[in-house]
Amino acid sequence: MAQPLFASLKRSGARVDVLAPEWVAAVLRRMPEVSEVIPGAFRHGALQLAERWRVARELKKRGYDSAIVLPNSWKSALVPFLAGIPRRAGYIGELRYGLLNALYRSSKAPMPQHYARLADDGLGELERPHLEVTPLETEETMQRFGISSPYFVLCPGAEYGPAKRWPYFRDLAARLGATVVILGSAKDAPAASGVPGLNLVGKTSLDEAVRLIAGASAVVSNDSGLMHIAAALGRPQVALFGSSSPEHTPPASPAARVLWLRLECSPCFERECPLGHFRCMKELSVDTVLGAVRSLS
Ligand code: SF4
Repeated sequence: MAQPLFASLKRSGARVDVLAPEWVAAVLRRMPEVSEVIPGAFRHGALQLAERWRVARELKKRGYDSAIVLPNSWKSALVPFLAGIPRRAGYIGELRYGLLNALYRSSKAPMPQHYARLADDGLGELERPHLEVTPLETEETMQRFGISSPYFVLCPGAEYGPAKRWPYFRDLAARLGATVVILGSAKDAPAASGVPGLNLVGKTSLDEAVRLIAGASAVVSNDSGLMHIAAALGRPQVALFGSSSPEHTPPASPAARVLWLRLECSPCFERECPLGHFRCMKELSVDTVLGAVRSLS
């Protein structure tokens, strides 16, 4: 969702380096706008002042003119401040007055536009996210896991919480009548349990998952990181939304079909259904999802 921002910066003539955790570096390295990924091993919720000082010293040596901080936390703004980067932009978030000096008020725009607002040269036309994978890379990865074409990819997980996870992937896989590859991180193992097919959940690197999605006939997922990867690869896909909203985090692809019941309680953006009935996902039937998959060209 940040790639349109990177593209906008690149278009303005800037070099774009990204400071990010190593686990996400595989995706960033496949973005043509990103020159370099600088790994920062910051744990969620941990201050890790010594590590932030170390990274700040590294950034200071590089002499950056400008830093854009995408997360809203106070901690995330520390490194560019300690590095003395002259322009430090981001949303006010956790009252980051002083740490940042180009502050923006939060917007209700969809996330790609929300991030792209932080580019200096304004919005312009947003570019669609795009990841580069060669056919050979996909072929090698398929061989490594013993997969032959054609195959569907199912992604039954969603790290945010159960309110984003459609509960019928098992039935869908059984009725697809094709080779099914199930992808996700180790944390998605409970959601993938019992889904018939080649279960590679927790068994691939993120980069291998990207390569396999690039070769899929179609991808069915919840609103998750892998949904955005399928969109950036332009694969035919069905994206299932429950407690979240496709108006906020849409799969940015003309090849995507979104299924969302738009109940009166939706989106609630909760991790678990606060009403207990979970109708937003339970009433999204296997027949409906199957019909959407079959309608993909
Ligand atoms: S409150 Fe509504 S939108 Fe939120 S999880 Fe429950 S059924 Fe879904």
